[in-house]
Amino acid sequence: MPDLPERKVGIIACSGEELAVGTVTRLAALKVLHEVRPGKTVTICLPLFLAGGEGDRAFARFHPTITVDGCELRCAARGTEMYSGKPTASVVVSELAAKNSLEHIDGRRRLNEAGQKAVELTTERLTNLVDQILATKPSAESLISITPVPVKGAR
Ligand code: SF4
Repeated sequence: MPDLPERKVGIIACSGEELAVGTVTRLAALKVLHEVRPGKTVTICLPLFLAGGEGDRAFARFHPTITVDGCELRCAARGTEMYSGKPTASVVVSELAAKNSLEHIDGRRRLNEAGQKAVELTTERLTNLVDQILATKPSAESLISITPVPVKGAR
């Protein structure tokens, strides 16, 4: 039986600096990566990805990805789709917050209470998606594609 590469999920956060919801994406992605699902996830740096980081783009082309955007402009989802392929799943913090009646997320450097609650909700949503994705079997085509692809540059 051949050794198959370990399957991991790439998380691409918009990390928008101008809006507090962008901060929420970055903090939630880091929480999943370091605390909740370490070893099962990697983060992909969106600016490097957009600037042409081949390792990150290749990873996102052949591995499942979840984009997490702060607002409906969906910079991470659109960039991923444009340069790699449609993300496996996507989360938009402003929509998640609205669905949970969370208002007035504020504080780019230090999130207010609503912002911290949004980080919790987003982390929970990302974790569920990671588990769902890893529970599904990859298709034969993606296994063939995964094998020769370098993942250098993906963190
Ligand atoms: S999705 Fe919204 S919050 Fe994120 S970088 Fe784009 S404009 Fe900023």
